[in-house]
Amino acid sequence: MKLVFLGPPGAGKGTLAVLVAEAYNIPHISTGEIFRTAIREKTPLGLKVQAIIDAGQLVSDDITIELVKERLAKSDAKKGFILDGFPRTIPQAEALAEIVNIDSAVNFDIDDELVVKRLSGRRVCKTCSQNYHVDFMPPKVEGKCDKCGSDLIIREDDKIEAITKRLEVYRKQTEPLIGFYREKNKLTDVDASPSSGTVFESFQKLFPQT
Ligand code: AMP
Repeated sequence: MKLVFLGPPGAGKGTLAVLVAEAYNIPHISTGEIFRTAIREKTPLGLKVQAIIDAGQLVSDDITIELVKERLAKSDAKKGFILDGFPRTIPQAEALAEIVNIDSAVNFDIDDELVVKRLSGRRVCKTCSQNYHVDFMPPKVEGKCDKCGSDLIIREDDKIEAITKRLEVYRKQTEPLIGFYREKNKLTDVDASPSSGTVFESFQKLFPQT
């Protein structure tokens, strides 16, 4: 299954992608995570994109498309994949269509108010990137990762100014992709406001495993 996960930041795309990747045995490809790893490891790519990401803006199409092209060329992506956070602009969607024919773009539908609540309460493990939420998905021990015990931190771009910017960028640059995929009869809408377990159940009904 070749899927794109669309939706505003904080819609729960990443959380669902982890569940789907495991259940359907396909790789979860998050461009945001690739960039964050590059920043953590201080690679040339990381140094180039850090300020842009911290400010909640988009990395250039050229850089992002090249990155995805390389990732999709790897053998594990041949049987299927979940692209989480890509494409985010029409030129990226057009470039993706040249690389591969996706089965569906899953649109995670959610209100801005809930997005702000989710993002401002999000905590991330600084070592293994596992996501938590102070109210909706708290760790067993406050401030510590259940998986590896490292400290939980607030992503720089989950601070309120960056959240506002990211939502603005989403509405302007990414939301038009909903129309792009609807016109191609590839859009599947999912209500992203319930808990991740409920959203996962809806997903499984929409995309039964063969
Ligand atoms: P995410 O984890 O998907 O919220 O992505 C975090 C940040 O990485 C975004 O706010 C952008 O700065 C950058 N980013 C991720 N994916 C893309 C993309 N497809 N195009 C441009 N920038 C991206």
